[in-house]
Amino acid sequence: MRSSDKTTLAGESVDRKRRVSAYETALAQFDAVADRLKLDENLSDLLRACKRELIVHFPVRMDDGRVQTFTGYRVQHNVARGPAKGGIRYHPAVDLEEVRALAMWMTWKCALVNIPFGGAKGGVTVNPAELSRGELERLTRRFATEVSLLVGPEADIPAPDMGTDAQVMAWVMDTLSMHQGYSMPGAVTGKPVPLGGTVGRAEATGKGVAIIAQAALEQAKKPIKGATVAIQGCGNVGYNAALAFQALGATVVALSDRSGGVYQPKGLDCVAVGDCKGETGRCVDYAKASVITNAELLQLPVDILVPAAMEGQITGSNARKIRAKLVVEGANGPTTPEADAILEKAGVTVVPDILANAGGVVVSYFEWVQDFNRYFWDLAEVNRNMEKVLRQAFAEVSATAKHEGTALRTAALMVAVGSVAEAMKLRGIYP
Ligand code: GLU
Repeated sequence: MRSSDKTTLAGESVDRKRRVSAYETALAQFDAVADRLKLDENLSDLLRACKRELIVHFPVRMDDGRVQTFTGYRVQHNVARGPAKGGIRYHPAVDLEEVRALAMWMTWKCALVNIPFGGAKGGVTVNPAELSRGELERLTRRFATEVSLLVGPEADIPAPDMGTDAQVMAWVMDTLSMHQGYSMPGAVTGKPVPLGGTVGRAEATGKGVAIIAQAALEQAKKPIKGATVAIQGCGNVGYNAALAFQALGATVVALSDRSGGVYQPKGLDCVAVGDCKGETGRCVDYAKASVITNAELLQLPVDILVPAAMEGQITGSNARKIRAKLVVEGANGPTTPEADAILEKAGVTVVPDILANAGGVVVSYFEWVQDFNRYFWDLAEVNRNMEKVLRQAFAEVSATAKHEGTALRTAALMVAVGSVAEAMKLRGIYP
């Protein structure tokens, strides 16, 4: 696959020439904010680059006896505010530039919600659906070993991302622990609860998306009850966001995955759609709704649109067709800078990824704290604290947006980049 072919989920209508990579998006966002903050040029040069970039090529024995070489990455963008934190992605489109962008967004996300981490991301270029369970485990254990040069509870703490889950984290934790000679639960988050995982982590990102949407609606003096929602993506983020929106009284009318979307204007039975996806692997096999494309889903007449799949879905080519007045970014980097400008002009509020999907890393932080304390919280405490952190960040971002007269993304990045820049200045330059 050519790297320019990576963002094809809603790509039917996307003009090839205008396709923007995640890294270009991340840099353009940073540059705009560095200008506004009048960051020192040397500091912004440093923050444009990732601190550490590890590329690994490693063999995995496949079930048929062949040995296949895979490529993986672990990139730490910045660690001024604490250990590096960020997920591991298994996807065929993973490459160094994508991982760099995702690592940079993790730095800003952790700073924005004020948890004591820097930003990292990792990934392997692989389609996990094509691996057997044994192959997935061997790939994971070997990749964990390769990146153990950087990873550890005080240094760099992975978590799930697209294509990975709690089981993959259990194998990572076990592999790192085997090398160490004792169990190191704090080396990864998003683990199964019996291994030192936290209750509430699996649902946290999606739940956070709904909480942030609710906060945005409250500010606009609109009720969430009865609001219609279209969600692109039905993975961990999209599906749990759907359930959380329903629990808040909103009506989820559309959900999708790689196969396309399902649309039911009266409201979907999201659990039934999820069950169908669990059985056949495809949302579109759900019979009680019309089948639509991912491109059509983005253009539905809904109150809230949640892109919760890949980067680069809302672009200069399709932004004008978006009819929702509120876009809440469940995915990392779903909107290109060109699309951002179009949406802002059209009066569409975009709640940026680093705020909207931060619930996941916030609860990862709670998991890490619990692992260190050897003392575990109940679900009510996890959820209460997550909501508090997210609402506080939302209030800070919307106050900044108002004060600076900017869109929420610019405001969020101003807060986050400002906080990282302050940490860098306080630490100074070694030696
Ligand atoms: N992969 C998630 C994200 O993009 C979570 C990262 C974490 O919990 O460390 O925010």
